[in-house]
Amino acid sequence: MSTVTLYIDGKAVEVPAGSTILQAAQMAGIAVPNLCHHPFLKPSGACRMCVVEVEGARALMASCTTPAVQDMRIFTESPRVVEARKTVLHLLLANHPLDCLTCEAAGDCQLQDYSYRYGVEKSMYQGQRTSYPVDASNPFFLRDYEKCILCGRCVRVCDEIMGVNAIDYAHRGFKTKIATAFDGTLQESPCVFCGNCVTACPVGALVPKMQKGQGRPWEIQKVRTVCSYCGVGCQIYLHVRNGKVVGVSPADGPANRELLCVKGRFGHDYLHHPERLTKPLIREHGAFREATWDEALGLVASRLSEIKEKHGPAALAGLASAKVTNEENYLMQKLVRGAFGTNNVDHCARLCHASSVAGLAISFGSGAMTNSIAETEGADAIFVIGSNTTEAHPVIGSYIEMALKRGARLVVADPRTIDLAHKADVFMQQMPGTDVALLNGMMNVILKERLYDKEFVAERTEGFAEFAETLESYSPEYVEGITGVPAGTIREAARLYAKAERAAIFYSMGITQHTTGTDNVMSIANLAMLTGNVGRESTGVNPLRGQNNVQGACDMGALPNVFPGYQKVDDDAARAKFEKAWGVTLPSAPGLTMMEMMNAITQGKIKGLYIMGENPMVSDPDLGHVDETLDDLEFLVVQDIFLTETAQKAHVVLPGAAFSERDGTFTNTERRVQLVHKAVDPPGDSLPDWRILVRVGRLMGLEMDYSHPSEIMAEIASLAPNYGGITHDRLGTAGLQWPCPSRDHPGTRFLHKGQFTRGKGKFMAVTYKPAAELPDEEYPLVLTTGRMLYHYHTGTMSRRSAGLHAHRPAGYVEINPKTAQDLGVEDGDMVSVESRRGRIHIQAAVTGTVPKRVVFIPFHFVEAAANVLTNPVLDPIAKIPELKVAAVRVRPSEKGGAGE
Ligand code: SF4
Repeated sequence: MSTVTLYIDGKAVEVPAGSTILQAAQMAGIAVPNLCHHPFLKPSGACRMCVVEVEGARALMASCTTPAVQDMRIFTESPRVVEARKTVLHLLLANHPLDCLTCEAAGDCQLQDYSYRYGVEKSMYQGQRTSYPVDASNPFFLRDYEKCILCGRCVRVCDEIMGVNAIDYAHRGFKTKIATAFDGTLQESPCVFCGNCVTACPVGALVPKMQKGQGRPWEIQKVRTVCSYCGVGCQIYLHVRNGKVVGVSPADGPANRELLCVKGRFGHDYLHHPERLTKPLIREHGAFREATWDEALGLVASRLSEIKEKHGPAALAGLASAKVTNEENYLMQKLVRGAFGTNNVDHCARLCHASSVAGLAISFGSGAMTNSIAETEGADAIFVIGSNTTEAHPVIGSYIEMALKRGARLVVADPRTIDLAHKADVFMQQMPGTDVALLNGMMNVILKERLYDKEFVAERTEGFAEFAETLESYSPEYVEGITGVPAGTIREAARLYAKAERAAIFYSMGITQHTTGTDNVMSIANLAMLTGNVGRESTGVNPLRGQNNVQGACDMGALPNVFPGYQKVDDDAARAKFEKAWGVTLPSAPGLTMMEMMNAITQGKIKGLYIMGENPMVSDPDLGHVDETLDDLEFLVVQDIFLTETAQKAHVVLPGAAFSERDGTFTNTERRVQLVHKAVDPPGDSLPDWRILVRVGRLMGLEMDYSHPSEIMAEIASLAPNYGGITHDRLGTAGLQWPCPSRDHPGTRFLHKGQFTRGKGKFMAVTYKPAAELPDEEYPLVLTTGRMLYHYHTGTMSRRSAGLHAHRPAGYVEINPKTAQDLGVEDGDMVSVESRRGRIHIQAAVTGTVPKRVVFIPFHFVEAAANVLTNPVLDPIAKIPELKVAAVRVRPSEKGGAGE
C-alpha cells in the first residue's frame, strides 16, 4: 500500500495514499472539529467546522474533503482557523435556541462542545429565527427543528446506508427544514425507524422518546452489551439510571459498526414492563399462586425425579432457548443429559435452521454461516434467496445496501416482492416450495454455458459427475413451468452470479422451513461450490440465523444428537469425555427433536417437560394440536420472563432474568461469540437462568458448582474444540469467531479456506420434490409465513415494547389485489383464513407484494396466529416443519378474534 507523509501541527504523519486531511489527523490522534462529517458517509464539506490552514494555500480548506498530499504542512488550530470556526459557530447559534449551553443534550451535542471549546457563549448575530414545532408524531423519536443545524447527516444516512430516502431538505433559504416528501409524517413515508439518523445527529435535534427527560448524560451509566432480538448480534449500550434501563444507543461492534434497527434501538422497553414475572408460581386447583424458590424448585426436582423413576429417563425432555446465553444453554443440555438421563433436548433452531445445520454439515462438514457480515461490502454479486433481509436482519440489509452503492449486483429470489426485490438487478418470484427446481435451473445454465469453476470443482470437491447428470433435465424452460419464473430471467440470474469474481449467497427461513429444507440448503451449497464461491473472502453460503443466540444454542449442544461442539452423542470417545467431565453415565442414543417430542407426548411416552425461554404455543405449527399436547403432560415447567402462552399451561413457572440482568455470551450468526453484560438487577425474586439451572441440577443430584458464567465458559472451552480458545477475558468488545481452538488462536473470519471442514466439498444430486400440501379446489391458495420488521418471533418482547406495539398493533394477511377482487375483499376488511388444521380471523392487507395464488401472514400475533394454519409435516433429515407452505382458503368475515 502506498503512503504519503505530511506534517500536522508540526507532527510527521504517515497515512495511506488517498486519505483525507481529516482522516490523517484522526490517525495521528488530533481532534479536528467537524459537524457534517461521518465516517460511514461520503464527505460533504458543508459545515466548514473542519477547516484547516494548509501552508501555501490562499484559503482555508475543508479537511474532510481535501486529500492528504506528500509533505503537506497543516495547521489545525492556527488563529485564522480558530477565527473561522468561531464565525461558523456564531452563524449556527444565530438560528438556534438561546439555551444552547444549558440544553439537556449537554454532553451529547457537538455544537455545544465546540461552543465551549472556542468560548462562543452567544451569537454575535441577531435576527429572525425559524420556528417549526417539534415533530412528535411517530412513536419512536422527536425531531426538534429549532435545534437542527441542517448538517444533513440524517439525510445522508437515510440514503447512503439505509437506501430508504425517507427524508431530504424541504423548502429553500431561511425556511429550509428536513422533511419527508410533501412534508408529511414519517409514518406516511418509507421510513423504517432504524434510528440511525438519531445516532448520526451531532446535536440534540433527534432524540429517542424513551430517553427524553431521563437525565443528563453524566447521570447515566452506559453498559455495553448485545441486542436481544435477532442473530446479527449488534452491540448496544444500555443507558442505566437508578437501576433502570432508560435508553439504548449503538456501540461500534464488529457486526453493526454503530448501526441498529428499530427493534434494537427502540424496542428494549419491554425490560421493565409491569407484566415481568417476579416470583415462582405453582399451579394449584387450576390457578397459579406465588411460591418461594425453595418450594418451587423442590417441586420441580421431585416431580421430574418421580417421572424418571417411574417411567424411565426417556419420559423426560427439555427445551433450551435461543434467547439465553451460551452458558445457560450449556447448563440446560447438561441438566437434561446428566440429570434427566436422556438426549431429549432441543430448541427452536428446529423450527428455523435445523436444515442449515444438517445440509451444510453434509455438503461442507460444518453447518454455520461461512463468512462474516462485514465481508458483505466486498462482494461483487449478492444472491438473496428466501430471506427478507431488510426486515428480518435489518443491519445485514444495510450492508447489502452499502455494497450496492459501491457497485455490487443483486439477484433476489423470493415468493414475495420484498424490499430488496425493488433494488435487484434480477428478481425471480418463484412459487413457495420450488427452490430446488430454481437452483437446479440456474446450475443447468452455468454448466451448459461452461461458467463453472473447473479448477475448484476438480481440486476441492467430490460427487460432481452424478450431480451434473441430475441437472441435465432442469432446463430453464422446464423450471419455468414449476417455479413460474421466466426462463430468460433464470438465465440472467445464473450468468450474473456465476460471472462475479466474489459472489455471496444469503438465505434464511424461506429456504429452510420446508419438507425439502435440507435439499434446498444442499442445492445452495452446490451452487456455491460449482462457481468456486466458498473459502474466500466476501463469498460463501450465509444462512442468516434468526434469534440472538440460536447459533450459540446449537453450538452448546442443545440438540438431541450432539454434545457441545457438534460432537456426536453416539460417538463413544466423545461420550466418554463428557461422562468423565460431568461425573455421570450418559445415554448413547440420540434423543427426540422438538416435533418428535410433541408426538411422543401425545403417545404418552414423554410425561415431563422443562421449557426454558421458548413459546411453542405460538411458534410451532398446527397450534391446535400443540395446545392439546401440552395438556397431556403430567408435569410442565416453564422458565421465562413473562407469563407466555406456554407458561400459562405450566404446573410450575420459574421467573428468569432478561439479557440485561446477567453476564454471559451470545454467538451471533457469523459465529462471533460476544460478551453480554449485566446492567441492572432482575426484578423481584427472578434469577438469571444459569442460577436456576444450577439449583435444579443439584437437587437432582448433578454436580454443578459455578460462581460466575465465566467458569461455565471455561468448562465449555475444555470440552468443545471449536470453543477451545474462548474465555470471557479474551472476548473484549470484538468477540471471537469460532473455530477458535486454542488460547493463541485469533478466531476464524471465513470457513473452508483451502479445505472444507469435511475435507472435500460434497456435491449432492438433489431433485425437486413438491411441497407436502399443494393448493386444490377446496383450499386453493398457498399460505406462506414469516417475520416483519417491527415484531419479533412470538411477540413476547416486541409486543410489550410501547413504540413497536403502537406502530404495528395487529397481524394481517397479505392478499394480491386480483385475488381480493375475486373474493370480494377490500383492504382492511376482516377475513377468515382456513386450512385443514384450523381457522383464524384477520385483517386483509391488499397488496401486490404477493402474487395471485399466494397469501402471507406474519406469525407474531397470537390472536391471529398463522401457526394455527401451518402444516406440521417434517423434513425427513432435519425434522423441520413445513412452515412456509400450506394450502388455505380465504373468505370475507365479519368476526374478529382468535383461531378456532
Ligand atoms: Fe438487534 Fe438484529 Fe436489529 Fe441488530 S439488526 S439491532 S441485532 S434486531
